[in-house]
Amino acid sequence: MNYIEAMMDFIRRSPTAFHAVANLRSMLEEGGFCPLNECAPWQLVPGGSYYVTRNQSSIIAFRVPKGPVDHFQLVASHSDFPCFKLKPSARREANGYAMLNVEKYGGMIMQTWFDRPLSIAGRAVVRTGEGLEARLVTLDRDLALIPNLPIHFNRAVNDGVKLNPQVDMLPVYGLAGTDYMDLVAASLDVDRADILGCDLYLVNRDAPRIWGAAGEYVASPRLDDLECAYASVRALLEAKPSNHVDVACVFDNEEVGSATRQGADSSFLSEVMRRIVQALGGEQPLEAAMARSMMLSADNAHGVHPTHPEKYDDNNRVALNGGVVVKFNAAQKYTSDGVSQAIFEWICKNAGVPVQRFANRSDIAGGSTLGNIANTHASMITVDIGLAQLSMHAANESAGAHDLAYMVRAMRAFHETEVCVMGDGRIRIGER
Ligand code: ZN
Repeated sequence: MNYIEAMMDFIRRSPTAFHAVANLRSMLEEGGFCPLNECAPWQLVPGGSYYVTRNQSSIIAFRVPKGPVDHFQLVASHSDFPCFKLKPSARREANGYAMLNVEKYGGMIMQTWFDRPLSIAGRAVVRTGEGLEARLVTLDRDLALIPNLPIHFNRAVNDGVKLNPQVDMLPVYGLAGTDYMDLVAASLDVDRADILGCDLYLVNRDAPRIWGAAGEYVASPRLDDLECAYASVRALLEAKPSNHVDVACVFDNEEVGSATRQGADSSFLSEVMRRIVQALGGEQPLEAAMARSMMLSADNAHGVHPTHPEKYDDNNRVALNGGVVVKFNAAQKYTSDGVSQAIFEWICKNAGVPVQRFANRSDIAGGSTLGNIANTHASMITVDIGLAQLSMHAANESAGAHDLAYMVRAMRAFHETEVCVMGDGRIRIGER
């Protein structure tokens, strides 16, 4: 399968976390995974494949073994990315223009959002005959744009300019008098008065594309972290059934700290694990199953910049197309330690997947991700991994076109390898 083309199509069709989760659901259902509802009891069958969502923006998919549940082998990633969110009353007009009042969601390079076609997507809560229903909103057209000030009025623009999101980042979407909510209602074919609530975002309209003399690179909005989210579900679909529970979790809200109902800092994962062990765990308590489990926390990494190598550690820098990255941090913002590194790199070596190691310079504070946060609720051996990319949190990010296949192969090999955590630093690793 051509993973990169399939991932580019997935990202193009996933302008928000809601859409990403809807598209992952479709992939899983095509692969025979059955939906579960958090609000109802679960009937799990040994050997079955299931998924469950929360808030329409996080998803946990899993395949249970034919025998009793011994432990879990999980891959976690995130469905969200930095962008702009429309405020509840977003309609603004000035100087003949209709504009949107937006605020930042996450930390993006704001400069990269100027002068490119944008649109609106998200969800709207619609009044129905029975109550309310949240529906996806996709205005699939070039709708809005944030104009730069001309250089003639801003001669210092190339010397670094301070941007105020309240003033400088408001997109224009038409002539004064236009109301974006009319467009939203028309797209859903509902009466405007029947839309009682919204979660709407500005969307970068750029399509993902391959670039480079030999097609070495892929440029795309939302690569961090939809690339790993796609890889994790693709790998789960491809992995042969195992003797443990194989899981792919894609959490929302990583870019704003994960502390939401559906984020990695919620009860979502630990409750799913508890329900699985209750249904199929036999005599084993959840605590033992959790202690015997392992997680890959998958979020993209910083590939070395072509002209700013001084920002990277001399020994622990990584390259695009160099393979899967294992991320380290002494303060354990990245969860990797000697044990999880050894297990993961062993599996990659057996699978023929190249591995590179990343650590920040000691005088630069790096980013954080979701593995350490998920561990405060579901604690287990965890390794932080990712794929090297450039321009993290720009409107378009770039990665190596060959790396995605390495990641899918590594995740699939992780699921197909039996990792038995014995306690006291002893691990048994076997093929299925
Ligand atoms: Zn990320």
